[in-house]
Amino acid sequence: MSIEAKFDLIIVGAGPAGATCALHLRQSNLRILLIDKATFPRTKICGDAVVGRSIKTLFAVCPELVESFREFQDKTRINQTRLYMNNRKPVDIHWVNEAYCCTRFDFDNILIRAVKEYAPNVTVLEGFAVDTVENTEGGMRLGHQAKQQFFSAPLVVGCDGAQSILSKKLTDTKMSHKDHAGAVRTYFKGVKGLCMNRTEVFIAKKFSPGYLWVFPLSEDTANVGFGMLTQKISQKRINLRESMFQFIEESPILRERFDNSEQLGKVEGFGLPLGSRRVQISGTHFLLAGDAAAMIDPASGDGISNAIVSGKIAAETVLRAFQVGNFSASFLKQYDEQVFKMLGKELWQSTLLLRTSIAAPFILDVSAALMTFAPINRLVKKIL
Ligand SMILES: Cc1cc2nc3c(=O)[nH]c(=O)nc-3n(C[C@H](O)[C@H](O)[C@H](O)COP(=O)(O)OP(=O)(O)OC[C@H]3O[C@@H](n4cnc5c(N)ncnc54)[C@H](O)[C@@H]3O)c2cc1C
Repeated sequence: MSIEAKFDLIIVGAGPAGATCALHLRQSNLRILLIDKATFPRTKICGDAVVGRSIKTLFAVCPELVESFREFQDKTRINQTRLYMNNRKPVDIHWVNEAYCCTRFDFDNILIRAVKEYAPNVTVLEGFAVDTVENTEGGMRLGHQAKQQFFSAPLVVGCDGAQSILSKKLTDTKMSHKDHAGAVRTYFKGVKGLCMNRTEVFIAKKFSPGYLWVFPLSEDTANVGFGMLTQKISQKRINLRESMFQFIEESPILRERFDNSEQLGKVEGFGLPLGSRRVQISGTHFLLAGDAAAMIDPASGDGISNAIVSGKIAAETVLRAFQVGNFSASFLKQYDEQVFKMLGKELWQSTLLLRTSIAAPFILDVSAALMTFAPINRLVKKIL
């Protein structure tokens, strides 16, 4: 027998974008359904660096959540990134924003727990993969064919990540190799020289344009990964997994530090839809946020912060739409403008950095050299 249920709002995906959107609406009188195909806690392939405006934005949305995250032990507090470029003297970039390294297993679980605890108007449905998306007359109907379970609402927010079914079904956005990256990551125990307040990024000519990261999760455990623009992966037929190990082996610093370390778990990879182009992120009865809206910083590969920020802006748009009862594409277009106003400049600067470093790789070397000068380092610190 088919089951049908009605809500005011359906959010698909309970990662950082979806959980933030749900939490920001916790004091509204909207009846919200938050669906995720996974059952939490779940793993998410990621570098596990929670940086940028993540914590600041979450604090504005739900301070109780941030307080409990601050008390959570299994994480590291980061305040700088050490950049190793082509065997040059490393450069330290100091962070201004409150930032952490925390596994996504833990971080995303803290987010969903906060939704369950602080958002009584949100029904959380886990282990439900949406495979049906229909734009009906009065709204959107979503569900799972085999289960014959369907939900409808006048408005839907798609926060369903890099392979978003909502983006596929509701927009014409196609994956573009020059606006997409691939990355792999694994965990290592026993890496020497980890510094608990510092993430590390390694760039080497042979593995360019891409970078290897070592992000500390505890005294002796690190998230280690390697990523590159998809266009270059396919042009150069790169095997990311092999390149990551080769990178470690061929770097005298890394080889020594990984000597006797132990790999924990397998190497896993996933795609990163970059915010280096503007794609459709709204339409009649829907909004897209986070990776579903392709908002990952093209230079750093960070996407958690933009997912959280866009999840909050989506929630603000939802409130305005319900105030006037308008769910049309033209009304919801204001969401695109708000997101662009908030993130557009940063994404543009990162895109410029990415494209310039591909066209003229020496630019990165020059930047690294310049960064050793205190005034320029201070300027970068201000920007970050
Ligand atoms: C290897 C790698 C390393 C990265 N490292 C970093 C990093 O260190 N720092 C950083 O800031 N960013 C990093 N990123 C990017 C970051 O992981 C994403 O930008 C971020 O997770 C986006 O959050 P989101 O909420 O939009 O999507 P997600 O976190 O992907 O959440 C989407 C949710 O939707 C659910 N879902 C998907 N499809 C369906 C469906 N059909 N039905 C129901 N539910 C569905 C999923 O189960 C998931 O829970 C990395 C990415 C990769 C691949």
